[in-house]
Amino acid sequence: MRTSAAAGTAPDHEVAIVGAGFSGIGAAIALDRAEIDDWVMIEAGDGVGGAWHWNTYPGVAVDIPSFSYQFSFAKRSDWSRIYASGAELKRYAEDLVDSHGLRSRIRFDTKVGGAAYDEEGHLWRLDTDRGEVTARFVIGATGVFSQPKLPDIPGVDEFAGTTAHTARWDHDLELAGKRVGVIGTGASAVQLVPSIAPEVEKLTVFQRTPIWCLPKPDGPIDGARRWALENLPGAKLATRLASQLYVELTFPLPAHFNGVIPLGKQGERVGRRFLREEVDDPVVRDRLTPRYGLGCKRPGFSNEYLATFNRGNVELETTAIEAVTAAGVSTIGDRLHELDVLVLATGFKVFDRGNMPPYPIKGRSGLDLEEWWDENRFQAYEGVSVPGFPNLFAILGPYGYNGASYFQLIETQVRHICRCLRHARKERATAIEVTREANDRYFRQMLDRRTHQIFFQDTCADANSYYFDRHGDVPLRPSPSVETHWRSARFDLDDYRFERRLSPAPAGSHR
Ligand SMILES: Cc1cc2nc3c(=O)[nH]c(=O)nc-3n(C[C@H](O)[C@H](O)[C@H](O)COP(=O)(O)OP(=O)(O)OC[C@H]3O[C@@H](n4cnc5c(N)ncnc54)[C@H](O)[C@@H]3O)c2cc1C
Repeated sequence: MRTSAAAGTAPDHEVAIVGAGFSGIGAAIALDRAEIDDWVMIEAGDGVGGAWHWNTYPGVAVDIPSFSYQFSFAKRSDWSRIYASGAELKRYAEDLVDSHGLRSRIRFDTKVGGAAYDEEGHLWRLDTDRGEVTARFVIGATGVFSQPKLPDIPGVDEFAGTTAHTARWDHDLELAGKRVGVIGTGASAVQLVPSIAPEVEKLTVFQRTPIWCLPKPDGPIDGARRWALENLPGAKLATRLASQLYVELTFPLPAHFNGVIPLGKQGERVGRRFLREEVDDPVVRDRLTPRYGLGCKRPGFSNEYLATFNRGNVELETTAIEAVTAAGVSTIGDRLHELDVLVLATGFKVFDRGNMPPYPIKGRSGLDLEEWWDENRFQAYEGVSVPGFPNLFAILGPYGYNGASYFQLIETQVRHICRCLRHARKERATAIEVTREANDRYFRQMLDRRTHQIFFQDTCADANSYYFDRHGDVPLRPSPSVETHWRSARFDLDDYRFERRLSPAPAGSHR
């Protein structure tokens, strides 16, 4: 490990990227293309792929078509299915890293525990568990689904059987012939439940809020389809466009323009009809019926989840959980469900303290980002940068993600960041900071669009959605994807202040 930069000397690297998921990978490829190649990527885990490195539970897969869940510059026609599995996405990440020559610049098994801006040196000091790393610029690519969330249920540590979280699956865990309980019915449970139901003796699914579960147009992409995609003129582009439109119609447009485009109601009709077709028992069907609008929380997409509740060995428990005991889960009214294995499909810390930001970040004059957000509510200019925190950019800042494919977000935010960095190079600037005025203007614009968003309609009151933060805001970006794309290419560079440190030593010059 290189020793830290003393004030006034050059930083270790021009850019530090924190996180080696698709955001980090996308940022690194774009930096290389912009000939900003003195970067280091710092990753807590021992491999690349982020969400797809950590989440390996049975059934894990993408829930938008793979034609959209990939980089526009690295489109594949050899996905095995329309909705690729987690393992396939992990391989896609590995291939990108190798084909773009990124691996040697990634520091694995290194966790960033804090970051502080050195005002004199115009650089960031990253405190890692393997020593300090300094960089002129930092790109936060830590995602929001990195830290598994445990349920707030008394006794959850007292269970005497085996406890597993979907986000840290233990592949030695034997489920065959076991009594298994699953707490949670979010997107991970929708994939896990049908995958494990056939092998377990008894499966009890503990549901607090039913999920909207929609059918997915999935299927294998066999040799003939692959050939057509690869060889028919325009086939790849047409598939990509159809897929992008489908994604846009299933979340961003109905959620953010609920008052304008009545797509949500149509989606709900599809969901209800699917429930009627799939679930035999009317009582179970009723319990699986959401009482909130489609879009208030993340829906599930599965052709198997609902029908799993027709199986004789699967029970849907909707009575609230009172406690977890050594023997199993006890629900209100003293019913004990005895279990051998307890699976927590309880998702992640999202907008919680300690996750947003993922580690303490101190900007100008020691300004603490978490405290600043606590006092001012979550906000970031174009979802990328925050005043008072120069040279710091995020891929997923507040009001950055509109709910379409995550790859759309990555490419948009990386374009924004690279515009800033290229301009800094041209101006020989060593500090870039968004103005307070530009930030405030963007925040106001986002809040003004609330009237049309589904989240702020009465129908979302009982949704229990992780989209809501502790201020009661939903820091998703109320914009169609074309607008996010357009703005990243056109935002006014005068919204940033570019400053030059006197006689800066060039980054990496001591190497
Ligand atoms: C099960 C599951 C299914 C999903 N399905 C979809 C989908 O269908 N469509 C979609 O658009 N999105 C989906 N997502 C969201 C998914 O998170 C994004 O698509 C995308 O993978 C996020 O990439 P990322 O690189 O921003 O974050 P991540 O993939 O979460 O990667 C962040 C990386 O940062 C590392 N890190 C975190 N903190 C630190 C630290 N302090 N120091 C060093 N390293 C750190 C983590 O170890 C991780 O490797 C899904 C997520 C999950 C968990």
